[in-house]
Amino acid sequence: MPNAALAASAPLWPKDTTVAKNAFYGDFHGAKWQAQYLTRVTPPFRMFYDKKPIPSLLVNRKIASSLLTVFNEIWNECEHDQKKVDATGASDFGGCFNIRPIAGSNNWSNHSWACAIDLSPGSNGFNMKTTLSRVVIDAFKAEGWRWGGDYKNRRDPMHFEAVRPA
Ligand SMILES: [Zn+2]
Repeated sequence: MPNAALAASAPLWPKDTTVAKNAFYGDFHGAKWQAQYLTRVTPPFRMFYDKKPIPSLLVNRKIASSLLTVFNEIWNECEHDQKKVDATGASDFGGCFNIRPIAGSNNWSNHSWACAIDLSPGSNGFNMKTTLSRVVIDAFKAEGWRWGGDYKNRRDPMHFEAVRPA
């Protein structure tokens, strides 16, 4: 189904502030945070990191079911054909959980909370024209995710994050 619009069942993500994200996703500085908040999502299609197959992705448990909905939507739109998925750019995983600042900033990246995912990083660097298919972008947007390709200043087209504007 075409789904550029927000799905009726889309989750309400926290605002993109440290306070709101810590309340919803937990504080990644906590000693037990990884054990309490991280879980694994197994995509319906094959995914690769640096061309090596990965069986599952480590993500914040709060995004797990939504991310699986996104992946299933892509899988269905591609008629369960791995080659078609590969052509959308969705199977080229660029990372999720990674405690680090935003490039060129003192603020923590949303990857620190494991609520952001990068896809096809090699061809979707800052301010590049995206190579990701509309199928991928629309599937995330239907779940209320924000796409870095829509950022006003430095566009980040590989990047999707489960937050709403602060
Ligand atoms: Zn990213």
